Amino acid sequence: MRGWRIRRLRTRIILSFALVLVAGQGIGYWLVDAASSRNARGQLDQELVAGERVFARLLEHNRNQLAQAARVLAADYGFREAIATRDAATMKSVLQNHGERIDASTMQLLSPDGVVQAQVGRSGEAVAADPSGGFLFRDVLDAARRNGTASAIVSQGLHAYQLVVVPVRAPLLIAWVAVGFEVDDRLAQDIKRLTDLEVSFLRGRSAAQTGGDRMVVLASTLPGGHRQALETVIEASAMPAQGGLMELAGIHYGSRIASLTGEQQPPVTALLQRSLDDKLQAFQPLRNFLLVLALSSVMLSMIFSALIARGITRPLSLLHEGALRMRGGDYSAPIEVPQADEIGMLAASFNGMREEIASREQEILRLAYLDGLTGLPNRVRLNEQLEQAIESARRRGATLSVMLLNLDRFRLINDTLGHAAGDHVLRQVAMRLRQLAPAGATLARLGGDEFALLMPQDGASPVPPAGLASAASESTHAPPDAARFAQMVLEVMKHPVLLDGQPLDVGASIGIACYPEHGADAGTLIRHADMAMYGAKRGTQGYAFYDLQFDIAQQDQLSLLGELRRAVEANELRVFYQPKIDLAGGCTKGVEALVRWEHPGRGLLAPGLFMPYAEQTGFVRHVTGWMLAQAISQCGRWCEQGMPLQVSINISTRDLADEGLPGLVGRLLAQHRVPPALICLEITESSFMQDPERALKTLREIDVLGVEISIDDFGTGFSSLSYLKRLPVDELKIDRAFVMNMLDDADDYTIVRSTVELAHNLGLRVVAEGVETAAAMDALRAVGCDLAQGYHASRPIPADAFQRWLLQAQWGLATPEIEPGIQPRKRPTTGMSPSASTRLNTSRISAASAPPR
Ligand code: C2E
Ligand code: CA
Ligand code: CA
Repeated sequence: MRGWRIRRLRTRIILSFALVLVAGQGIGYWLVDAASSRNARGQLDQELVAGERVFARLLEHNRNQLAQAARVLAADYGFREAIATRDAATMKSVLQNHGERIDASTMQLLSPDGVVQAQVGRSGEAVAADPSGGFLFRDVLDAARRNGTASAIVSQGLHAYQLVVVPVRAPLLIAWVAVGFEVDDRLAQDIKRLTDLEVSFLRGRSAAQTGGDRMVVLASTLPGGHRQALETVIEASAMPAQGGLMELAGIHYGSRIASLTGEQQPPVTALLQRSLDDKLQAFQPLRNFLLVLALSSVMLSMIFSALIARGITRPLSLLHEGALRMRGGDYSAPIEVPQADEIGMLAASFNGMREEIASREQEILRLAYLDGLTGLPNRVRLNEQLEQAIESARRRGATLSVMLLNLDRFRLINDTLGHAAGDHVLRQVAMRLRQLAPAGATLARLGGDEFALLMPQDGASPVPPAGLASAASESTHAPPDAARFAQMVLEVMKHPVLLDGQPLDVGASIGIACYPEHGADAGTLIRHADMAMYGAKRGTQGYAFYDLQFDIAQQDQLSLLGELRRAVEANELRVFYQPKIDLAGGCTKGVEALVRWEHPGRGLLAPGLFMPYAEQTGFVRHVTGWMLAQAISQCGRWCEQGMPLQVSINISTRDLADEGLPGLVGRLLAQHRVPPALICLEITESSFMQDPERALKTLREIDVLGVEISIDDFGTGFSSLSYLKRLPVDELKIDRAFVMNMLDDADDYTIVRSTVELAHNLGLRVVAEGVETAAAMDALRAVGCDLAQGYHASRPIPADAFQRWLLQAQWGLATPEIEPGIQPRKRPTTGMSPSASTRLNTSRISAASAPPR
């Protein structure tokens, strides 16, 4: 049974119903059958008993008839006379006549002592006498002598007779008459007619009984075949002694055996039989009816159970199909089960579950694909869309471009104004970009301050917002749409974002990569757009298309990072100095020390190429330590030479967190015997904002030393001037971004002028950096700025070159070869006396330190 499982519920229900019914009907049928066959046997037994009685009666009747006939014969006068006269012929004829009258089988006349005198038989032959002519059945004769008459069933050879012996008296006994009927087929038929039983007469003993001669069938009403079968049974000695059930030629007979001879030998018995099968036949209609009833009720029950099963399994199948659909991710179609029963309730729960899952999946999809802050698609979504767009562009032979936009001063906003302000800016930027994005383009926020735009090239061209002239593309190989869109975005980003009414300047840099030109897959395109974006940050245009150069540059930076560690020990770092000119007097008041890396393979590297990584890895402390040592010792040497120039040194964010910094500075000052006021440390607003408490502590300790502190790149942060009052600050350096444009841009000019004013109000000295022209010098002087630093005076140069420059600038000893395109119109002077004059060679470093123009 284990391996044989019915899988389908429906089949199981139908089969169970059918099985129960078949079992019930089967048991019923079996009970009825058993009862009817018991009944049939009972009837049969009764019939056999009755038949036996009838049979006995018939024998009795025959005996009486024989006795009567014998007595009539014995009383016959002529017969007695013939006996007396020994008239044999008459005796025989009288015997003949009487015998015929009663249809006797045998008639014998015996002498008083039992010798056969005359005899006749129906078939001509009478019962034989013994060889001496004596009567064969002496027992019967003896009984007649004792009782007057006697009767018995006797057998001789293959014949048996019912015999009656009566005396013939005249008046004394003169003879005996024996009259007999043969026990033969006729008799058997007579009994059958009366009893409706099959009758067989048997002579002899069955082998089961001891001794005796073989049993034979004397007569029988059984049909031929059955009689033979009976003989076979007898031959096989299978004849039961008491009767019972006997099978003859396939028919079952109930049998009863009656002894006819009593103690007499050889015995003669009567076998009375009745077919049980015939009897059972009477019950056949009932059985047939039961069978039909059983079959039809099984059929009906199967039909009904099929209907019921269908009622159960159909909705279950519907549920199953629904569950399968859900498994496949299809939550659209409800499960339609019309019933209101338990299955209907289950279906309703299923549907509820389906809706829940569908809405949850929707929500998960939304969360997985959308940026929560701006509502724009996120990086994952963009990647997917980009892959699809690439696939479709490949099929259609179209192109597309990916733009990456990064806000320029976002970190500063976050750091100084808090994350709420940062979020506000991001939302505003997202809104502007969304308005600009052409139809068919996908705008996404990749994270932080990074946005991306996927623009199919054959899509709609961006529509410039009102009031913005759409500039013609400047890139030769670039798709014009992408370039134009980038310019539009940059134009729009020039408008400050308002935060609580306060304007925030949020610049942006855009990198663009195009399919298939710059990459054939999503990953490469985004990576290349990212590189282009960093390229744009270094450039002036604000946006850049991907260029192989960027890739090489980036790989360079990565390997540089590893090499920087040993650069300090290998003494590959250099200090360059750039003068700070007093605008009122025109003399050099101080210098800014700027680091360079004399790379053995790559030549002189500008700090922009390695300092950001040094800051990220924390290695910057070693650079700062080295710079402090170099710059302070140089300052000491200049002092000894009678040139008390103030040296400014840049301090990074991580340095401000270094508790050992003030101690180090103090030790170096003492070591090189430098007056503290000749050293100025430049910090940026943002570096201070990282951990203001810690930074303030460090700055205070430095201030206690007497070292000056300058705020570098002023104007790019968003902190108010008020916090400067809390800091021990001496100087403010206006960022070169404002200074360089102040003559072209009214806003920048205003910023420079008001910064100078405010700083002076706070008692601070103001330095303008990025002063590239004489006109800028004049303008700065006009607004009252104290010091100017920039290419107009000199690029950053090594100490010895600076000393030569100083001599020339001061005394005009030689024409300094500063840099192509930058010629100081009016040479600044210093109050110090020059000690040497040499040619100034900066051409080697100009390429590395000059920003791209
Ligand atoms: P910074 O502190 O603002 O330094 C001034 C930068 O402006 C220098 O770039 C200088 O070459 C450049 N510059 C000077 N005059 C002009 C001009 O007229 N026009 C233009 N366009 N640029 C001018 P440099 O030397 O490449 O240094 C870049 C930055 O690297 C510095 O900006 C500073 O933040 C950092 N840096 C340089 N040396 C050190 C250092 O020793 N330690 C630390 N922590 N940072 C350093
Ligand atoms: Ca600086
Ligand atoms: Ca600066």
